[in-house]
Amino acid sequence: MTVSANYDAIAQCNKCGFCHVACPIFRATGHESGVARGRLALLRGIIEKRVEWNEEMEDPLFTCLGCGACTTNCFGSVPTADLVLNARAEYLDKVGKKPAHRLLFEHLLPYPKRLHAAAKAVALGKNSGASKVANALGLLRIFGRDLPKAEGMVERMPTSSFRGTIKPGIYAGQGKELKIGYFVGCGVDVIQVESGKATFESLKKIGKSVTVLDNCCCGLPPWSYGDIGNTKLLAEKNMKIFSEADLDVIVTDCSSCASFLKKYPKVFKDDAQNKARADKQAPLIKDVVEFLYASEFGGDGKGSSAEAVSSYHDSHAGGGTEAVKAVFSGDKPAVVTYHDPCHAIRGQGIKSAPRELLKALPNVEFREMAEADWCCGGAGSYALTHYDLSQKVLDRKMKNLKNTEADILVTSCPACMIQLAWGIRKHSLKTKIFHISEMTAYQQGLA
Ligand code: SF4
Ligand code: SF4
Repeated sequence: MTVSANYDAIAQCNKCGFCHVACPIFRATGHESGVARGRLALLRGIIEKRVEWNEEMEDPLFTCLGCGACTTNCFGSVPTADLVLNARAEYLDKVGKKPAHRLLFEHLLPYPKRLHAAAKAVALGKNSGASKVANALGLLRIFGRDLPKAEGMVERMPTSSFRGTIKPGIYAGQGKELKIGYFVGCGVDVIQVESGKATFESLKKIGKSVTVLDNCCCGLPPWSYGDIGNTKLLAEKNMKIFSEADLDVIVTDCSSCASFLKKYPKVFKDDAQNKARADKQAPLIKDVVEFLYASEFGGDGKGSSAEAVSSYHDSHAGGGTEAVKAVFSGDKPAVVTYHDPCHAIRGQGIKSAPRELLKALPNVEFREMAEADWCCGGAGSYALTHYDLSQKVLDRKMKNLKNTEADILVTSCPACMIQLAWGIRKHSLKTKIFHISEMTAYQQGLA
């Protein structure tokens, strides 16, 4: 779809400026070009032929986090992130795609084994202090100009991926009925491996069987970049895998993947056959937060009543592992706070469920963080391509985290975890960060 086709939606902006207060990029830079109103004015300028497509468009189009906060604060609910994304697709057609992105989207993300090999090469380079090895392989440079600055963000890389240890296949669970498919996102597969193991153990406790899927990337990275062709290739591969497995539900512990997998019908809106398949599969997709919540409390997984929460507390009191003991070792309850990934809160409407899950855990004092639903600046690979800007957004988040004096920060998106963990190290905070699956699995004594 071209920018011109979105003219009506773009023209809905009445220039009121209410989006300014909500936009992390505007709050970090103070530049009108970084806020929804400015971006929409630019798109309107293109349509009205006052602005030409050229490389100068790259910054205003690609510095948007896609967080959707502006839409939440806009009376007309102008979907700026989607409109910017459409414009990115046209930019790639008119101005060109970078070879590094081609390598990533066409040759790496569709093939999990290649991704594992690439991640291993990076891990060996990083963990041995020889990150130049990985650089020389061109694996890190894929992300572009800011990579050298961002290279320290991941402290250590696991040398074995999640699916290198727990191979794709069907595993018996302790439950009676549910056949669960576990969609392993790239971040969990190659970086947040411990989160994946915790999710896997929790799913086995609930399901009759857990199928670790041989899925590829969900397609969100090329979609966010505006590369619709490669997004469709990835989505088709995944939909075929879903069709061939006999599953009641497909769970993922990456809120970004969950949000995007639910969006497949939108990806194929102009392709009747694939749209029909996507429509059929979309209701099976569950964010692990929704799934854990619904399995304990019932309902749609978005949030429930206080009575249900206290019954969860009773059934999960006590127990624990060495990891839990290390965190909950003091006499006082651990202070826990939560960061809402954009793709959970605005992408899927998940807000109360993670909080209720955490409040229900024993020895936890939940403390809400100011602006918990603000983007952390991670936004997929944003921190690798726009490092300085992403750090300004992160610094604001870290100030809010520090004010909570929390022992533990919890979230449900691997990209957020990487960014937040980096912020914690950079700001020398004592807070530890866990995926929500790790919290629930550790407390159940599973991992
Ligand atoms: S809040 Fe909405 S209508 Fe107002 S300036 Fe921002 S995008 Fe335009
Ligand atoms: S999607 Fe986020 S970063 Fe982009 S304009 Fe809206 S609030 Fe700003």
